Amino acid sequence: MKEAMLYERIGGKKVKCNLCSRNCTIPEGKRGFCRVRENREGTLYTLVYDKVEATIPDPIQKKPLFHFAPGTMTFSISTVGCNFRCKFCCNWLSSQSQEITGRSIPPKEIVEMAEKSGCSGLSYTYTEQTIFFELAYETAQMAHKKGLYNTFVTNGYMTKEAIRMMAPYLDAATVDFKGAGDPDFYRKMMDVPDPSPIYENLKEMKRNGIFIEITNLVVPRIGDSEERIRKLSSWIIENLGEKTPFHLLAFFPSYQMNNIPPATSETLTRLADAAEEEGLKFVYVGNVPGHERENTYCPSCGKTVITRWNVYLRKMNVTFDGKCPHCGEELNLGGLKWVKTG
Ligand code: SF4
Ligand code: SF4
Repeated sequence: MKEAMLYERIGGKKVKCNLCSRNCTIPEGKRGFCRVRENREGTLYTLVYDKVEATIPDPIQKKPLFHFAPGTMTFSISTVGCNFRCKFCCNWLSSQSQEITGRSIPPKEIVEMAEKSGCSGLSYTYTEQTIFFELAYETAQMAHKKGLYNTFVTNGYMTKEAIRMMAPYLDAATVDFKGAGDPDFYRKMMDVPDPSPIYENLKEMKRNGIFIEITNLVVPRIGDSEERIRKLSSWIIENLGEKTPFHLLAFFPSYQMNNIPPATSETLTRLADAAEEEGLKFVYVGNVPGHERENTYCPSCGKTVITRWNVYLRKMNVTFDGKCPHCGEELNLGGLKWVKTG
């Protein structure tokens, strides 16, 4: 157990947590909404600093990060807890756990494990990395000292303060939307009162030079509106740039939403086409292995420059500085210094 970062005492023994946009007011003896930050005698503690649940080397494409350090392996870590209550969460046993489980692995050891397993960096993922900020923060600092990258997979609901604090050590982030950011979907399906902080946080990440990819989970019937996809795509173009990679991920029945069928390839293709029509240059379809939108095509000459299958990179044909070798178009690739060539 460790004293939390980013909180303030607000009178009596109450505290206010400033780590995520819920900004929980936590009375003495109680925990925040994420269930992993507890007020003891007016001091806020993180209960998961030394409770690592998962340590797994993954292809970076699994995050998904398709344009950052392509083809590298990343060491994924997570703890229990989450600041959302998604009814479709595929990691719900960890994210919604009422108990604090996991084992103590100090940041230094996590970084050593990453190096030993041949990974080029780390990803803070599976549940929501915001809620294990203290562990991620210390690990990320040590990872950078060793020349490894750091990436977040996040619902984007942290505070700007948290982003600014982490930014010097954070190289890339996958920010996950669900239901194309529809506020009604967020309220009903995820117990999130208002998704607007996510948009502000994305702008803050961009200002801080963090490489960004966006995903959106497509849930049939209740979260597959083409109109909303077009709206989200326009927002991305205007605020993050037309070359921001955008992934449409297929929903699979899970947790409390076992009664909804999986998203079909046809639906995902239609929505991906709509996003591209709006002007996004790199639109991908995920969770449909073998889909033609797993590959990267040059937006200028149309030639295939990166071939993938599922989460695996098969072939990459780009210049050393991330351009199309056929026409010289800039492909918005980041983290190339970690890509082994030859
Ligand atoms: S991190 Fe947890 S305790 Fe802090 S504001 Fe968010 S949900 Fe509340
Ligand atoms: S934000 Fe992610 S980890 Fe948290 S409940 Fe939702 S899907 Fe699960």
